[in-house]
Amino acid sequence: MGMRIVILGAGFGGLEMATTLSEALGERLEVTVIDKSDAFVFGYAKLDVMFGRVPAGAVRNPYADFVKPGVRLLRETVTGIDPVARRVTTDQGSHEGDILVIALGADYDVSATPGVTLGVNEFYSVAGAAHMAGVLPGFAGGDVVVGVCGAPYKCPPAPSECALMMHDYVAARGLGAATRITVVNPLPSPVPPSPEMSAAILKAFEARGIAFIPNVRVSAVDEAARMVTLSDGRVLPCDLFLGVPKNRAADVVVASGLTEDGWVMVDPHTLATQYPGVYAVGDLAATGVPKAGVYAEGAARTVAANIISQLRGEPQTARNPGAGSCYIEIGAGLIARIDVDFLSGPKPFGTFHGASVEMRRDKEHFGASRRARWFNR
Ligand SMILES: Cc1cc2nc3c(=O)[nH]c(=O)nc-3n(C[C@H](O)[C@H](O)[C@H](O)COP(=O)(O)OP(=O)(O)OC[C@H]3O[C@@H](n4cnc5c(N)ncnc54)[C@H](O)[C@@H]3O)c2cc1C
Repeated sequence: MGMRIVILGAGFGGLEMATTLSEALGERLEVTVIDKSDAFVFGYAKLDVMFGRVPAGAVRNPYADFVKPGVRLLRETVTGIDPVARRVTTDQGSHEGDILVIALGADYDVSATPGVTLGVNEFYSVAGAAHMAGVLPGFAGGDVVVGVCGAPYKCPPAPSECALMMHDYVAARGLGAATRITVVNPLPSPVPPSPEMSAAILKAFEARGIAFIPNVRVSAVDEAARMVTLSDGRVLPCDLFLGVPKNRAADVVVASGLTEDGWVMVDPHTLATQYPGVYAVGDLAATGVPKAGVYAEGAARTVAANIISQLRGEPQTARNPGAGSCYIEIGAGLIARIDVDFLSGPKPFGTFHGASVEMRRDKEHFGASRRARWFNR
């Protein structure tokens, strides 16, 4: 029997990890990937769904298309994780690995913010984005609050993108003059690691009359009273709330004892937890890099490379690059990009690529290349 590797979660991290292992070792491994869903959806596709650019059904990448030598993908829900025994229980049974990789992403804690309901007034889940796609056509103008309920959260630029896309949306419907958009964000600027990107976003906000309130989070939403309360006590009028719920590791991960302050403690360079043979990659790991797909992929490739070296009897020298590119929709069809390296230098280092129509092709390639690599599509 080959080495048994159990990967929990088939998102950016889990899919890339299983693919890298399969490419290198194929049938010599026994890789089991477990996910509760039947399809993968890119995070950014939620914005496209929300604004009616594509139907929710069109952005699904069915796991049935994820076919790799040496890998089986099971549709099961993880209900317990024992990091000492590297044993996992699910709604269907249990699985044990020589290596256990936890890549279950960030979950949403709506109980932290009264008035926020999953699948209703947030756009961070597929259900929420699809629900918004039905709500937005009935919006007749008024106060819109794009509100973040806690940090860290996935994809720091996404609330800014949402506000800029909302501006385009209301303008196209002739509701621009009747609408005021406010972004509430616990971060000090739209994208703190990139002052140039933040400045470009703030300039775009100013040009469109979008207000940006930094350093505070939304602490409560009262849709009946049409108001939103902020963590500093301020109250904003709100006819439409587009929320980013508080993010944290899922309850099943917290219950495993692997977390501190809601995130899994790891060595940021190797993704190793304190338990031998147990790794955590992606959004749920406390690595100090942003919670975004590209960074989850880099972490996954690092763990995979070290497993491959271990099997070949070579030194395990791979280190998490903590580097990647993020795209941001600036509105009017323009897309900008930042490349940020978080771990190789003494402090994060970013390069900003200004907004252009050409960058859309770059972003499309980002999605298309992953679809081809993981789903043969
Ligand atoms: C609106 C929005 C826009 C974004 N834009 C970008 C972008 O442009 N670029 C970018 O790089 N990133 C972007 N992101 C972030 C990106 O989607 C995440 O950072 C990335 O998906 C994290 O990968 P992951 O592998 O850690 O987790 P995920 O991709 O979230 O995968 C986790 C998997 O675990 C499964 N799972 C969870 N709990 C269980 C359980 N109990 N049992 C079984 N399975 C379970 C889930 O079904 C899921 O498939 C965006 C996110 C959002 C919300």
